[in-house]
Amino acid sequence: MRCLLFAFLLLGSAHSFALDRFQVEGYMLPNGLQVLLKPGGERGHVAIRLVVGVGLDDFSCADKELPHLLEHLLFSGIDASGEGGLEERVQALGGEWNAYTSNADTTFVIEAPAKNQRKVLDLLLALLTRTEIDNTAISAAKQVVEREDGGHYSHLQRWLDRQDLGHKASNQLAVELGLKCAERAEVDHLTREQLEKVRKNWYVPNNMTLIVVGELDRLLPAYLERTYGELDPKDPTEHLPLPDIQSKAAPQRDLILGWVGGGAKLHWLFPEPVLANQHDETFDLLKDYLDWALYRQLRLEHGLSYGPWSEREVFGGVGFLSLSADLERDDLPQAEQVLNDMKANLLKDGLDPATFARLQQAAVARQAWAVQGDSALADYYWSALGDYDNGRFADPAKRLQAVSLEQANQAMRQLLNQPGYLRIEKPLLSYDALSWLGAGLLGLIALAALGWRVHRKKQ
Ligand SMILES: [Zn+2]
Repeated sequence: MRCLLFAFLLLGSAHSFALDRFQVEGYMLPNGLQVLLKPGGERGHVAIRLVVGVGLDDFSCADKELPHLLEHLLFSGIDASGEGGLEERVQALGGEWNAYTSNADTTFVIEAPAKNQRKVLDLLLALLTRTEIDNTAISAAKQVVEREDGGHYSHLQRWLDRQDLGHKASNQLAVELGLKCAERAEVDHLTREQLEKVRKNWYVPNNMTLIVVGELDRLLPAYLERTYGELDPKDPTEHLPLPDIQSKAAPQRDLILGWVGGGAKLHWLFPEPVLANQHDETFDLLKDYLDWALYRQLRLEHGLSYGPWSEREVFGGVGFLSLSADLERDDLPQAEQVLNDMKANLLKDGLDPATFARLQQAAVARQAWAVQGDSALADYYWSALGDYDNGRFADPAKRLQAVSLEQANQAMRQLLNQPGYLRIEKPLLSYDALSWLGAGLLGLIALAALGWRVHRKKQ
């Protein structure tokens, strides 16, 4: 009876533990591997994320694709059966896997039936430790990576990139400010030695976090210690410092996007000033506010744009908040005027308190349903690893709630007091210009034909 009571208590507490998504059992294996385990709400399934602390930002412009290429290579097989054989094994376990290389990390993403969780983790470990990187696999992976990056890097594309014309507005600005590489990184010159070095220096347990969410096997902690605990630690390599703004950029520029069309996109980008407290929450709320202000002004009041939007992006070590709109080419001057007025009014009157309060409430309420299911929860932990401390993730709802109107106003003033950078993306020719060009060409052909006839008659 006592045993039964204990089991009930345990079940009860496990249930409330599962409900509080910010509470996570986390510990570090002696070799430095960080483990985060969370019983999930779904039965029969686990979501696994292995986050390796190496990303594109850790390499110079020329070698940026190294971690991405290595990520692909690690799927090329653990024995003679090769890539196909490895995939067959995952299929046999009823799982699915993939991997992603971002600026900051390389992450292996796995969904699997709970009953096979240890077998799937075995396979992941084999992939990390037993994959042989040979030259055939390297050429195959290079082709895939090149295709993912948009196919062969043509001379025309490279020339456009050098002229700063081939990029999208925010990327173009980042290149101009020295926050981003001007040219696309290529893979052809990367060597096996370089790849092995990345693997040896960065794929070490003390540079990894393993997240498992779902119906956890009760033997999982012991299993992990016996298997992943055997990986050899090594002093991790220092991350490269993120670039800061290094050069001046033009306050306004036109960028070519496509050949012919009547549309245009306007982007007004502002570097985010760094706030001492609640930087992200404040700018997230400000973004919501500006989204709404753009919608009211450009769509409802003036009917200039169907879905204007505001966006936050990070390049190197600098965050940007941008105001953007899809427009008709002819409406550009009017839209610029509306945006200038909107900015001036915000600086003069500040944020409207009622609107700010409503949008803040909505942002807080959204947190209640923003993360649904084990896979989303695992992804959430992955994205918020920097906020993990002592068994808990910070609660975004509380942090959003804590931003005061005054704080938001201060951030808005610091942001919009800057001139910002205006970028207009439009096709090379408008339809009108194309018709004129066409008419001109026809005229030339007619003239040439006439000249030829006159010439022949004379003979
Ligand atoms: Zn890829």
